[in-house]
Amino acid sequence: MHIDIIAVFPEMFEGPFTESIIKRAVSKGIVEIGLHNLRDYTTDKHHKVDDYSFAAGAGMVMMIEPVDNCISHLKSQRDYDEVIYMSPDGELLDQPLCNKLSMQQNLIILCGHYKGIDERIREHLITKEISIGNYVLSGGELGAAVLVDSLVRLIPGALGDETSALSDSFQDGLVSPPVYTRPRNYKGWEVPEVLLSGNDKMISDWRLEKAIERTKERRPEMYEIFKKS
Ligand code: SAH
Repeated sequence: MHIDIIAVFPEMFEGPFTESIIKRAVSKGIVEIGLHNLRDYTTDKHHKVDDYSFAAGAGMVMMIEPVDNCISHLKSQRDYDEVIYMSPDGELLDQPLCNKLSMQQNLIILCGHYKGIDERIREHLITKEISIGNYVLSGGELGAAVLVDSLVRLIPGALGDETSALSDSFQDGLVSPPVYTRPRNYKGWEVPEVLLSGNDKMISDWRLEKAIERTKERRPEMYEIFKKS
């Protein structure tokens, strides 16, 4: 998979992309991530990427030209499956959407800043808008980092144990059951006996029962769908 990210503050990806699973996936060649600073695509001598809003007092708005220049440059190098804009009013990111996008080859992710981007960019250049939740961030970078992390861990080979992404919450319409590690007894806090039994059938029954119980309690709407399936 190849992901190009367009941002005003690309340095913000240092950390999320230089540690752990994403770092490993990049070094194994499972994913390539291109970071593009929007300021490199301006014709303005001060590298300006924003301007006053036509709605007085509404704050600065990201201009069309640098975004268009950057997207055109990227499109001259490869074909993209989606040009995504991170936006609070976009489609809410959930596991089915992550699964779908993780199967794409080439993605562009545009991060907004300030008051947002000129609406004409959304109309003419963007093919998909994604929100990471019903709250407002200062910029799209953190949202894009969340999106990329959620996609990369699904690509075969990214996780040490490839099956573990499949047993995570939401993959089977349920949240994950509780997990435990050593010691078996910590200050009298015991690991459930069944998990120490060595009986695979009893353990998988217990895990399913706990997953259903938790889903019913914490995600009742998801439980209703699971019940019908
Ligand atoms: N004025 C806009 C918010 C702009 S916030 C509004 O009220 O809708 C600045 C940028 O942060 C946005 O352009 C977007 O790229 C990003 N952003 C903010 N909240 C987000 C969210 N919940 N999900 C994804 N991106 C978000």
